[in-house]
Amino acid sequence: MSFLQLGNGFKKIHYGGQTVKESHRKSLTWKFKMNERSTTKGFVKFFGTGGARFVVSTQLRSTAGILLRYLNTNLYIDPGPGALVRIHAAKERFNLTHLDGIILTHKHLDHSNDVNVMIEAMTEGGFKKRGVLFCPQDALDDDPVVRKYVMKNLDGVQTLREGERYSIKDITFSTPVRHVHPVETYGIKFLLNKTISLIADTRYFEQLPEFYSCDCLIANVLRKKPIEENDVIAHLSIEDFARIVTQIKPEVAIMTHFGMAMIREKPYLLAEQLKEETGIDIIAAYDGMRWNF
Ligand SMILES: [Zn+2]
Repeated sequence: MSFLQLGNGFKKIHYGGQTVKESHRKSLTWKFKMNERSTTKGFVKFFGTGGARFVVSTQLRSTAGILLRYLNTNLYIDPGPGALVRIHAAKERFNLTHLDGIILTHKHLDHSNDVNVMIEAMTEGGFKKRGVLFCPQDALDDDPVVRKYVMKNLDGVQTLREGERYSIKDITFSTPVRHVHPVETYGIKFLLNKTISLIADTRYFEQLPEFYSCDCLIANVLRKKPIEENDVIAHLSIEDFARIVTQIKPEVAIMTHFGMAMIREKPYLLAEQLKEETGIDIIAAYDGMRWNF
């Protein structure tokens, strides 16, 4: 096989006796648009805004997770089922070999299912050693979600621990507290031009808002109904989210990772209502949403 670059966004590829044209525009669209360059330093792209098993199996919303770009650094967070496919299907194309790392907040399937194929994509099928994986130790120990032979292609693996701080190129972040969730789980506090907190799956607990003080908040709000004291479900409800937002008072608060009942209630309506009640800019994320900061 040989390549011939053409000036019009296509390259000619020779397979044996055949010659085909293939688009290589993908690599050109990773940059900010001209008018965004002066005002924004980064963005969060929501490839998926669904969570929990019914939404995973029906794909009522995508469960692909999110991409964070800051300056020249790209991190993918929680590549759930469909991440690889959704990224390639998106109108605004992203080249996965430009990823610097992947974060798993925890090992549940709706957060980690595509991690192996994403590492393969980041490392060009394992031929280029590249990228760092950040994840809790229990994602690698008992019942691991990352294959050993895939992990070998990474530049490094860093295990997330309570109260630690991590850096990768332009991005620094901390994992302030271990969450109340059936497996080892951490939220992320990104220390960028703004502080952006990402509260991953957890049951609400009293000190939770204090750990995530920030300018901008992203939270996994899976539930419509509040969770009872003895309920086995360990997720935030819309009520918990309201409590967190009123305490932190961020510039903007984005809800994502919706379960079935939340989707039925139309998250944008709940966001509007909450915005009125709290006076804070509340956004319900939707699949494909890009939020610049
Ligand atoms: Zn979970």
